[in-house]
Amino acid sequence: AKLHGCPVDKDELGRSTWNLLHTMSVYYPEKPTEEDKSRAKSFMTILGQTYPCDFCAKDLRKDLKESPPKVESRQDFALWMCQLHNKVNEKTGKAKFDCKDVMERWRDGWKDGSCDY
Ligand code: FAD
Repeated sequence: AKLHGCPVDKDELGRSTWNLLHTMSVYYPEKPTEEDKSRAKSFMTILGQTYPCDFCAKDLRKDLKESPPKVESRQDFALWMCQLHNKVNEKTGKAKFDCKDVMERWRDGWKDGSCDY
């Protein structure tokens, strides 16, 4: 695969979007206001309506219907996002990610320091 293809392909778009989504979820407030919760839910709904990969967006809308965003706390939202990504991983035949590691992967960095160089 091209490393810096232009325009972006489905996989590069996916990686960029997961970067944003997981990072959003692990920096989501620990104690969200009603407005925070409403914005997080709207963001995911609108993503399902605008994501520029038609069959991905269609499946996302279905996934959001079956499992609406859990936005009561950072922990809830980060875990929910991880489970959403795992649904896509399952569909595309990729390895399942262990969601207990989501804070290390996306917020704190791996304990072995491998993110530091
Ligand atoms: P990615 O799946 O992009 O993951 C990037 C990194 O995230 C991984 O290296 C890993 O460190 C980490 N990670 C992996 N799983 C998790 C998890 N569960 N929780 C937290 N972190 C994790 N592609 C399709 O072919 N068909 C689709 O229907 C489809 N739907 C998509 C729907 C959405 C909403 C998005 C954002 C993307 C979708 N994609 C789809 C793209 C697909 O998910 C991948 O992004 C793309 O295939 C590139 O995969 P990758 O192996 O580089 O890693």
